[in-house]
Amino acid sequence: MSSYRIQGATGEWEVVIGLEVHAQVVSQAKLFSGAATAFGAEPNTQVSLVDAAMPGMLPVPNRECIRQAVRTGLAINAQINKWSRFDRKNYFYADLPQGYQISQLYHPLVGEGELVIEADEKAGIAADKAIGIERIHVEQDAGKLMHDQHPTRSYVDLNRSGVALMEIVSRPDMRSPAEAGAYLRKLRAILRYVGSCDGNMEEGSMRADVNVSVRKPGDEFGTRTETKNVNSVRFVMQAIEYEAQRQVDVIEGGGRIVQETRLFNPDTGTTRSMRSKEDAHDYRYFPDPDLLPLVLEDSFIEDCLHSLPELPDAKRKRYVEGLGLSDYNARVLTAEAETARWFEALLAEGARIQKKSEGEVAKASANWLLSELYGALNRLGKTLEDSPVNPERGAELLALVADGTISGSIAKQVFEIMLESGDAPAKIVEDKGLKQTTDTGAIEAAVAKILSDNADKVEQYKGGKDALFGFFVGQTMKAMQGKANPQIVNELLKKALG
Ligand code: ADP
Ligand code: MG
Repeated sequence: MSSYRIQGATGEWEVVIGLEVHAQVVSQAKLFSGAATAFGAEPNTQVSLVDAAMPGMLPVPNRECIRQAVRTGLAINAQINKWSRFDRKNYFYADLPQGYQISQLYHPLVGEGELVIEADEKAGIAADKAIGIERIHVEQDAGKLMHDQHPTRSYVDLNRSGVALMEIVSRPDMRSPAEAGAYLRKLRAILRYVGSCDGNMEEGSMRADVNVSVRKPGDEFGTRTETKNVNSVRFVMQAIEYEAQRQVDVIEGGGRIVQETRLFNPDTGTTRSMRSKEDAHDYRYFPDPDLLPLVLEDSFIEDCLHSLPELPDAKRKRYVEGLGLSDYNARVLTAEAETARWFEALLAEGARIQKKSEGEVAKASANWLLSELYGALNRLGKTLEDSPVNPERGAELLALVADGTISGSIAKQVFEIMLESGDAPAKIVEDKGLKQTTDTGAIEAAVAKILSDNADKVEQYKGGKDALFGFFVGQTMKAMQGKANPQIVNELLKKALG
């Protein structure tokens, strides 16, 4: 398996990548104030005196934000630090009225953890790979400056100011754009399962700072650059590709990489220098005197642990080992929390109304969801969330196939009608007279007619052309308008051709 390499004039280069992901915490209120956090509100309508940094206002940590960060830490098997502390990171910027951001530098809430990205041959990821996560700390988000509202003025919207962020810092363990993409997708899936961040990159609730360096394979790490606030998985991959090639060109051209902050331009897929990198001492970090250290009780951590849902890795394993699904199907069904939820509702209802084993119902449900339902949703430009057919109706349809009321091909027709009318499948089958017939008399008559109409083919079949059997089945089904029980058709044909 070839690993990702850049071909330079002086030989092959390896890319080293570490990601710092800012994830907005799902909570009703901000990290240190009671102001609301809902996205899309009128500017400056969700700003408390604390967020506006009025003199004398004191921050009070929001228990729910801490809880969400701890739950996230537990979901990546990280160490939870029972003692952590908030620090002030001092800088002046118009979107930050306090003049400092409350963050955690020295003692983060969450320590060392990891996340596993899965083998993906097409993407050049040869085997499952654990990516180290160094820490998750909690901090305030800043407001938003708007430079495009007025010819000469800039405006500020402080609604986002003070909203809780988790900063999730990976180890420099990734070695290709594809690995970084897989890491981000997996992290986003876990955040969504946990419910601690909605993972919506377009709305900016998840964004990545992309650290990239290059080296000759086996050498020490090179100097890195950091491309800030990249807001889609595709852009992160593009930024890495561009930045790695640029660094190789600079070094091979006799230049030197300086540690700096860069900006990504989504229109061109390129990065450009924004400022040389500040060091921690430039920010004059010090413990925030307005806040006591954060001390967690064991019972709080226990509660966080018990509140976690089954996570994607565990779910995938259970789908394969417990339900007998293929690895591929299990992977697709667990990639998004919503897909797994839909599938499990479909399966639960199917298992309740069918006489088949759970494994059989699971297989049929998975196949139907991934081919028929997904196919229809794609066509309609819809997602599972606004699917015109719900899991209960889907299960009813599959039950009609399982108990022989309709054939698989009739089920497709019924499904099309369900999508349009929203009617129950049993009603559609009844109204349209689509029930599968086990009336052997009618099928026998159809068989006799097909065989006499195709006497030449019957001769060939008897002469050893076995493949023609399928032709007879097809013709009989057609004559019966798809409503004959296929098993009975088979039996009667065999008898007739004897
Ligand atoms: P700082 O304290 O200067 O922000 P960190 O050690 O916290 O630096 O690293 C920030 C991010 O940069 C982490 O995600 C880390 O994995 C990544 N990183 C560190 N060194 C390198 C390197 N040489 N190449 C690529 N990424 C790196
Ligand atoms: Mg850092």
